[in-house]
Amino acid sequence: MMADLNGKTALIFGVASDTSIAWAIAKEMAEAGARIILAYQFRYHSRIKDLAPTLPNILSYDRCDVTKEDEMKAFFSKLSVPIDIVVHSIAFAPAATFQGNLLDVTPEDFSASLVASSYSLSKIMQYAAPRMTRGGSVLTLTYLGGQKVCANYRVMGVAKAALEAYVRELAFELGPKNIRVNAISAGPIKTLAAGGIKDFDYILDYHKSVAPLRENISTSDVASCAAFLASDKARRITGQILFVDAGYSIVGVPQLG
Ligand code: NAP
Repeated sequence: MMADLNGKTALIFGVASDTSIAWAIAKEMAEAGARIILAYQFRYHSRIKDLAPTLPNILSYDRCDVTKEDEMKAFFSKLSVPIDIVVHSIAFAPAATFQGNLLDVTPEDFSASLVASSYSLSKIMQYAAPRMTRGGSVLTLTYLGGQKVCANYRVMGVAKAALEAYVRELAFELGPKNIRVNAISAGPIKTLAAGGIKDFDYILDYHKSVAPLRENISTSDVASCAAFLASDKARRITGQILFVDAGYSIVGVPQLG
């Protein structure tokens, strides 16, 4: 049965195209009855302009680079409704960090990666929490690379580890306001962001052959879990990293032969 999000308003960051995990979440939450507000980076304005009106309950869509204070301020100053759900589906690291060794990462690239991919969750909540007057649910997207070494992920693994620590710290800090904070750790999915990771097709094949369910993950698999976490059915779940990965993360030694 679909989660019930009637009467809730969801603010969703990270739609870049119809392949984005955030887009599947927006569609699922809209179908579950939530009103949707989208925040996106301006360079994809033309795509969002076509996509956003196809959602049944779209309230507004506007640009917001989460690393720019002026854009954050302008974006939130235009929001007049209380927010119940925040989705942070954002990651960025400069291309050089995926190409070279971790030892060669510059302080500038380290900082750019962690500010965009980890600190941005906290930054968004600085603006969003005062608008969550009825409490609510915050959700971010992480990957196994935040807990285990995943080849070619490099500084993004460090960023995801920091993001997962933010989930616990923010859950602790915002819990007394009845704001829950969780992450979904998704298995690999071919999206625009995944395009930056070397040998991604190999990663997909390997994941499918090792995962107990012998399947790869779709954005809609992630979206149905996101809608559950955002719903009142998950009202006592906070500070958790929930794996939607066909069980891949539990395997130590894969089936041989
Ligand atoms: P995606 O469609 O490329 O989404 C990434 C989003 O982050 C894009 O909309 C991107 O906007 C946005 N973003 C980056 N920097 C930003 C900034 N400064 N301000 C605002 N938005 C910014 O790829 P995705 O795979 O759906 O990624 C969504 C999340 O899922 C990420 O956190 C990713 O790490 C996580 N995840 C992905 C996978 C996977 O295999 N795909 C697995 C586990 C977790 P621009 O494109 O305009 O930069």
